[in-house]
Amino acid sequence: MAIIVQKFGGTSVADAAKIRRAAERVIRTVKGGFQVVVVASARGKQTDELVADALELNPNPPKREMDQLLSTGEQQTVSLFAMALDAMGYDAISMTGGQIRMITDSVHTNAKIKSVDAERIHKHLDKGTIVIVAGFQGIDEHENITTLGRGGSDTTAVAIAAALGAEECEIYTDVDGIHTTDPRMFQNAAKIKEISYDEILELASLGAGVIHPRAVGFGKKYDIRMHIRSSSEDQEGTIITHEVPEMEGVVVSGATVQRDMAKIGLVGVDNVPGNAATIFARLANAKVVVNDIVQTEVSNEKANLSFMIGASDLADAQKAVEEIKDEINCERIFVRDDIAEISVVGVGMRTHYGVADKMFGALAKAKVNIDSITTSEIRISCIVDKDQAQKALEAVCVAFELDKPAEERGQGS
Ligand code: ADP
Ligand code: ASP
Ligand code: MG
Repeated sequence: MAIIVQKFGGTSVADAAKIRRAAERVIRTVKGGFQVVVVASARGKQTDELVADALELNPNPPKREMDQLLSTGEQQTVSLFAMALDAMGYDAISMTGGQIRMITDSVHTNAKIKSVDAERIHKHLDKGTIVIVAGFQGIDEHENITTLGRGGSDTTAVAIAAALGAEECEIYTDVDGIHTTDPRMFQNAAKIKEISYDEILELASLGAGVIHPRAVGFGKKYDIRMHIRSSSEDQEGTIITHEVPEMEGVVVSGATVQRDMAKIGLVGVDNVPGNAATIFARLANAKVVVNDIVQTEVSNEKANLSFMIGASDLADAQKAVEEIKDEINCERIFVRDDIAEISVVGVGMRTHYGVADKMFGALAKAKVNIDSITTSEIRISCIVDKDQAQKALEAVCVAFELDKPAEERGQGS
């Protein structure tokens, strides 16, 4: 019998009525002849509340204890969900990450999945039981509870779909699908019917919070059809799938803004072999994830180097570069945490020209100054002042007609 994994996000299980509604959807799928595994998130804003509780007692809580605490949010939802199904006359069992042997590495608060015991889930499904799994959590090889990073229940769902060989992984959420940009920031953002793994991976990594980037990575690797859809309305959402030739016709599929980042610049570093290696080895040692590295030669003797990091890593990164400032003969270090990154993404950029021109033109018209620019094959990103981010995003969305479905846009050259 084919298996469907259905993931319900926090807002979709926020109260008893919403859990009942989600349970009804599961029952419809069971009646349609499928075995169903549900993955659920913590209810409403519970994870945020638990984080606030922790910070009230300790501004720098031990990460292991943070995971122990945060995993309780999902554990509550899954048992309530199973109770709701039981009350509706359906056999259901809730399981924690540990109970399905969702084994992860030991990087607390940002763990990566290594394996899942699919047999434990199959055993219940084959008896006709609906299995409700707590998202976002696993255990490491020492039986410590771990979590997968904020938004990680999506990744739990896709990993389980891969392990079970599921037909589809449905992600139920509070929007009706993936839009060209966050509809909370650009109200008229158009809904996307179909998007490639590569595009949504890029968009999600650049701040489109609608799906956890690692979930998309799993989906692509294990060829899982993913369907992002509304938990409150009964309509098709967005299908994430492999790239098909028609997708190349869409130059820009979406835009994002990322506000929680910072930039560190090292001015006047000695232009000699080994300095970049020294800097990034030190940052890696401090477990800082670095993006968008730019190095420019100022003269034969000196170079400038800058890179982007997540704002939460700023203190660690700053400490790391201060420690080697003299070793690399750096004249000055600067830090900017008042920035945001605006990006446009589209596989069609590989074959069309004029995208950069249109983006920079839109920002210029909106009088937004660009601090720096980075590109990949399918994206262009500009760093701008944080207080201009909203204006910049709107300008870019208007320029690329992201309020219209792809087939109605003038796609340019
Ligand atoms: P859940 O709790 O269901 O996982 P999330 O809050 O994680 O829900 O994700 C849904 C939210 O993602 C939406 O409410 C929306 O504001 C935001 N979002 C960001 N970018 C996009 C986008 N490109 N398309 C749709 N929603 C987006
Ligand atoms: N509850 C977790 C969070 O809020 C995981 C998730 O919702 O996906 O980040
Ligand atoms: Mg989410």
